[in-house]
Amino acid sequence: MTYPTQPTASHFIGGKYVEDTAGTPIDVIYPATGEVIGRVHSATPAIIDQALTAARAAQAAWAAMTGTERGRILRRAADIMRERNHDLSVLETFDTGKPYQETSVVDATSGADALEYFGGMAATLTGQHIQLGEDWVYTRREALGVCLGIGAWNYPTQIASWKGAPALACGNTMVFKPSETTPLCALKVAEILFEAGAPAGVYNVVQGLGDVGAALVSDPRVDKVSLTGSVPTGRKVYAAAAAGIKHVTMELGGKSPLIIFDDADLENAVSGAILGNFYSSGQVCSNGTRVFVQKGIKDAFLARLSERLADALIGDPQDPATSFGPMVSARQMEIVQGYIAKGQDEGARLVYGGDRVARGGFYLQPTVFADVTDDMTIAREEIFGPVMAVLDFEDEAEVMPRANDTEFGLAAGVFTRDLTRAHRVAAGFEAGTCYINTYNDAPVEAPFGGSKQSGVGRENASAAIAHYSQLKSVYVRMGDLEAPF
Ligand code: NAD
Repeated sequence: MTYPTQPTASHFIGGKYVEDTAGTPIDVIYPATGEVIGRVHSATPAIIDQALTAARAAQAAWAAMTGTERGRILRRAADIMRERNHDLSVLETFDTGKPYQETSVVDATSGADALEYFGGMAATLTGQHIQLGEDWVYTRREALGVCLGIGAWNYPTQIASWKGAPALACGNTMVFKPSETTPLCALKVAEILFEAGAPAGVYNVVQGLGDVGAALVSDPRVDKVSLTGSVPTGRKVYAAAAAGIKHVTMELGGKSPLIIFDDADLENAVSGAILGNFYSSGQVCSNGTRVFVQKGIKDAFLARLSERLADALIGDPQDPATSFGPMVSARQMEIVQGYIAKGQDEGARLVYGGDRVARGGFYLQPTVFADVTDDMTIAREEIFGPVMAVLDFEDEAEVMPRANDTEFGLAAGVFTRDLTRAHRVAAGFEAGTCYINTYNDAPVEAPFGGSKQSGVGRENASAAIAHYSQLKSVYVRMGDLEAPF
């Protein structure tokens, strides 16, 4: 079988595809079959230099355009992305293995939302006037310069767009390095932005392993680093950026709590737990993987959950009927299998799944453990796969400190019909993104990001503007100036 997935070349720099086959080859593997469907090359020092030179050269003219002009280009790119949603979704499914049923509604569409939202906002970015008697200060909101985006593999189109759209709206240029596991989709984002009118060099993509990311982070031509990845990578990237006193956004991992009280609507609570654990085969950073279920509803919850999981359609992810696909890679599947074994070894009760699916590719069954305790490995570490840990609790006072007892703070959710309790619990969560009677919605209009070790900064909404621009204060004196001598 041949796949329409081999890109024209590995990198997109200065408005065109660029290749340097001296770089380490990176095979693109289709997770549903394990077949090689493309090959790119990791960026050589010459490619890294070319990308940063192009981004630097394009930045001043891009920032000098009016916000309306920049915004028009971003909104045109959003329109193109929506027109090509089908093809982009098929590519996203090849890149990640996520079912087309998902990719056709959350990847290019959410990328387009970001381009449209920040495109609309570009013309509204202004400074402030601060009157001081007859003197005054005005502030200018200025671009940071060249922004570096580094992506994870679970949402390649979305991450490339969520970082690119606010960066470009503010007058920055970008060099984006996708995950080596999913190198294809970001190239399409770059192509579309260029086609929409972004001048050459405004948005560039270079491929590479972690060493390429590291070389880019420490290059003095980079002014800001935005990483989506794991906490261990975040520590390294944050430290390297700190050496150059660079701005950072860190969108890192999580082990988020989802609390289900016994007054919750059972069907909605089960839906929330499914969305928060099994969407994208569990490969979502904000997943609510520690599901605390109040004792009164526990049996009913587990029974209904098992019934609903039996309805998952596991199969060819390009088939629109498929609702559950493979893990992204053999390596990720093995990591998750290791956690499943550890759950069993440490005494958790396997109530659903736990095995590979009998077909090619990297499929694991949706897996549920009950009777999980707070100290078990599967309740403490981010698994990043389809493994739900169900923990029991008695009451709110007991569950809240347990929910917050984690180094992570990305997301948290609560299901209850008690209005005041819902808001009290949301206020008590130590997490950046919280949900009441829903889970994992991420509209561009709402800030998204983590607290504690899950991150620094926010993506989406007007909050992102603060992380892709800086304020300059200009003091204006109207009268004479006194000095001590
Ligand atoms: P990862 O940390 O292994 O890699 C992320 C990216 O960093 C890749 O592009 C990789 O090549 C690059 N990288 C690795 N070492 C580097 C270094 N020393 N310097 C610079 N770049 C380096 O993460 P992953 O396995 O690709 O993705 C899964 C992780 O991402 C999970 O922990 C998940 O929770 C997290 N994630 C977070 C969010 C969020 O918005 N908070 C979203 C998606 C994924």
